[in-house]
Amino acid sequence: MAAFAKHARVWARRLTGPNGIFFGGLLLAFVMVALLATVLLQSRHDALDRARDTSRNVALIAERDIERNFELYALSLEAVVEGLKHDDVMALPPHLRSQLLFDRAATANFLGSMLVLDEAGNIVIDSAHDTPRHANFADRDYFTVQRDHDAGLYVSEPFRSRLRNGTPSIALSRRLTHPDGTFAGIVMIAINLDYFHDLFSGLSLGTNGAISLLSASGTLVMRQPYDPKLIGRNYSKAPTFRHFEPGSEGSFTARSPVDGVRRLYTYRRFPHVPLVIMVAEAPQDIYAAWHRRALTIGSLMGVFALGFVALSFMLGSQLRRRVRAESELQLLARTDSLTGLANRRTFGEILAAESRRAKRAGSGFSLLFVDIDRFKAYNDQYGHQAGDDALAAVARCIGESIRRPADTASRYGGEEFVVVLPDTPAEGARAIAEKLRAAITALGIEHAGSEYGRVTASIGCASWTPGSDAGSDLDVDVDVDVDVDVDVDVDVDVAKIIKAADEALYKAKAAGRNTVVTQRATDAASAV
Ligand code: GH3
Ligand code: MG
Ligand code: MG
Repeated sequence: MAAFAKHARVWARRLTGPNGIFFGGLLLAFVMVALLATVLLQSRHDALDRARDTSRNVALIAERDIERNFELYALSLEAVVEGLKHDDVMALPPHLRSQLLFDRAATANFLGSMLVLDEAGNIVIDSAHDTPRHANFADRDYFTVQRDHDAGLYVSEPFRSRLRNGTPSIALSRRLTHPDGTFAGIVMIAINLDYFHDLFSGLSLGTNGAISLLSASGTLVMRQPYDPKLIGRNYSKAPTFRHFEPGSEGSFTARSPVDGVRRLYTYRRFPHVPLVIMVAEAPQDIYAAWHRRALTIGSLMGVFALGFVALSFMLGSQLRRRVRAESELQLLARTDSLTGLANRRTFGEILAAESRRAKRAGSGFSLLFVDIDRFKAYNDQYGHQAGDDALAAVARCIGESIRRPADTASRYGGEEFVVVLPDTPAEGARAIAEKLRAAITALGIEHAGSEYGRVTASIGCASWTPGSDAGSDLDVDVDVDVDVDVDVDVDVDVAKIIKAADEALYKAKAAGRNTVVTQRATDAASAV
């Protein structure tokens, strides 16, 4: 549980740190952009769906119109077939016969004449003229197909009308039979292709859209945009034309065989008439509105996200500067400016933490008090600046002499230093102290006022060992008030050990200086 709480604290600190803020901002911007991208992608799909629906509706409207009209024409043809079954019809005067056989359908818009042809393809009855015009249509598919077999209601391929100055048309035909069932000719009605042209030009499909009507065999009957050259061409081999089932519908994307533009095709094969309608919409029309919206929102979001990232970056670096400044300040507050060692306040903290750890872990620790010998005399003789230099040199020497990372040297005050040696029993501490003393002497800093002729130091050692109270382990009076300037709650054991080290140092001074003295519980101070 405690480990979890510690991990949580560490992560909370990381997240609210400079990098956390920068990467958090980056992540947030990324999430925002990803969300927008998802929404835009979805609306792109929606645009495609809408286009498909529109195409389907356009196809359906066209199909309904064409089928309804074709149904009317089929009924008219049916009426003629039925009328001709009565023998007396042919005996009527031509204008009455026409009235009887051809209803008003024959006069509708876009319709050519309604004709009855005999088995040789010649006009027998002409809805437009009482005296039939002279023409033969034995070569037309609407004639040959019915001659060869009863094709029911036949929708012809597009052709140019011979009776109407080559007007592009298609024809609907029905077979006429003699009472014995043999071929008697056909009745047909021609539909001007303008009908489809007119119908398609009223449907809006965007600038690059196209709508085509093809016969079931793949011949183009009408196309919008209109190009007369294309009418009558066969596209049954084109990838866009498949042999659709009657009544089937669907959509696919393909390149147009006519103009090479890639489009979304929606097709419907008419259920009752052999025609296929294909509505094609170009992507640039389908996505035009989406493109505009995506560009506007996307660029706004891009700027916003970039701004957000830049802001997070600035905030992060600002925080980084502050953290650095704070840690520098903290370091300054913890170190001694002249020597670069930990200051007395830090020493207090280290000592308190170390004593707690030593008690918890049951490991011992030692303390060295280092005091430069006759330093007042040094100052007096060489000046305060030289004194400072010598102090710094000794401090450096102490710092370099302690090798283990856990060992710490601090400036206790004036020309006094203190070294905390965790996990170090008295013997080890003494060895280190001796090494330290020798190293300071080895610096060889001239000191005429000293009996040794160079700068030396005296060292007092004290140790705390586990399993015994420091009071009994160390021969020190508990009442002594030790001046340790620390905020933390100083344990009485710590006070005792400081006092012990101080006493040991005093004894070292008394023993002639440049000396190490170890304070033990039982034996008296032993000088080297
Ligand atoms: P002893 O051998 O008994 O320790 O004699 P001492 O002269 O070293 O001891 P004392 O405590 O009488 O004098 C300490 C001197 O250290 C006083 C002062 O002149 C000098 N001192 C203390 N702090 C500094 C400092 O920061 N810079 C310099 N240059 N001298 C300092
Ligand atoms: Mg002193
Ligand atoms: Mg001194």
